Amino acid sequence: MRALRLNDWKSEPELVELPAPEPGPGQVVVKIGGAGACHSDLHLMHDFEEGGLPWSPPFVLGHENAGWVHALGSGVRGLDVGQPVAVYGPWGCGSCGRCLRGAENYCEKPWEAPTPGGGGGLGLDGGMADFMLVPAARLLVPLPDGLDPVHAAPLTDAGLTPFHAVRRSWGKLGPTATAVVIGVGGLGHMAVQILKATTSARVVAVDTRPEALKLAETLGADLVLPSGPDTAAEIRKATPHRRGADVVIDMVANDVTLATAGAAARMLGDVTVVGLGGGSLPVSFTTPAYEVSVQSTYWGTRPELGEVLDLAARGMLVPEITTFPLTEAVTAYRRLASGELTGRAVIVPTQDR
Ligand code: NAD
Ligand code: ZN
Ligand code: ZN
Repeated sequence: MRALRLNDWKSEPELVELPAPEPGPGQVVVKIGGAGACHSDLHLMHDFEEGGLPWSPPFVLGHENAGWVHALGSGVRGLDVGQPVAVYGPWGCGSCGRCLRGAENYCEKPWEAPTPGGGGGLGLDGGMADFMLVPAARLLVPLPDGLDPVHAAPLTDAGLTPFHAVRRSWGKLGPTATAVVIGVGGLGHMAVQILKATTSARVVAVDTRPEALKLAETLGADLVLPSGPDTAAEIRKATPHRRGADVVIDMVANDVTLATAGAAARMLGDVTVVGLGGGSLPVSFTTPAYEVSVQSTYWGTRPELGEVLDLAARGMLVPEITTFPLTEAVTAYRRLASGELTGRAVIVPTQDR
């Protein structure tokens, strides 16, 4: 089969020919219908080096995947060959307290997971290939009617990660609240929709690119703002008494955007760090405002993936996608890196087969 493999740190991936995987006991092989191109893959290609993560190349990229059940290992029940499925991406041990609750993103025994803190496309072979091996049937979520694998793929990360970040702040997102999304790319354009679909808060979207802000507007953002030194003041100006935003979700998280997030957050608000931009947010007695909670979040839980798929199947969350055949995957990443894409790029291996 064809596969887009990252061979080494500090390099671009390469399309290679690999043997198609065979399922062992309890495992499932998925025929890939779609594999999303995440900005995290660009961080993997350019920002990490040996020792920076508990695993290393070579492995096939693609950690947001959906497709059809292709082959079942012995003992797998409840799935049929040909059935459309989404792959839950963070693969934990499956048996610790967090994994039992479906929060494999926060597995407490990562050394017993297939690869510590990773999954397919993150240390193990992922879905930018014709087929992908999924090590346990519990990691597959059947697609609801009305959702195809090409649109489902980006929901498993670009949808699930912001859903988890928004959901944990639901209690602060009532009718008089303001939520801010910084970075309206693959994750951010889903965050805007998730906020509109699941809360009554006003939504402010911030980006450096006019096309991204235009997309945010189309998706229902109440206010869009260019990212810059005055953004926090502009956000405050848009709230009653300049009190600031109840929730700020930073999909970029460099020093500049975290400064904006910290300065824009209202007393008792949330600042949630999702981007891997490498910035930091200084904390002192007076800044950020009193009782602002700052947290980073990693991906989401399996039950939340079910909720995301349900929202999408009902048309309340529609990923904006550009598709590429597997042979054009490197081009897709280059276009993502240069800021030429809006929404999410999805690699569709069946497109040139
Ligand atoms: P993306 O490239 O699709 O989107 C990033 C957006 O941020 C773009 O629209 C870009 O124009 C905008 N941007 C860049 N600099 C900006 C600035 N200074 N101010 C405002 N906007 C700015 O990327 P993505 O795939 O959505 O991923 C976003 C980040 O989230 C990446 O760092 C990625 O690694 C990370 N990520 C984290 C998790 C997690 O679980 N925490 C999961 C997936 C991705
Ligand atoms: Zn990702
Ligand atoms: Zn676990």
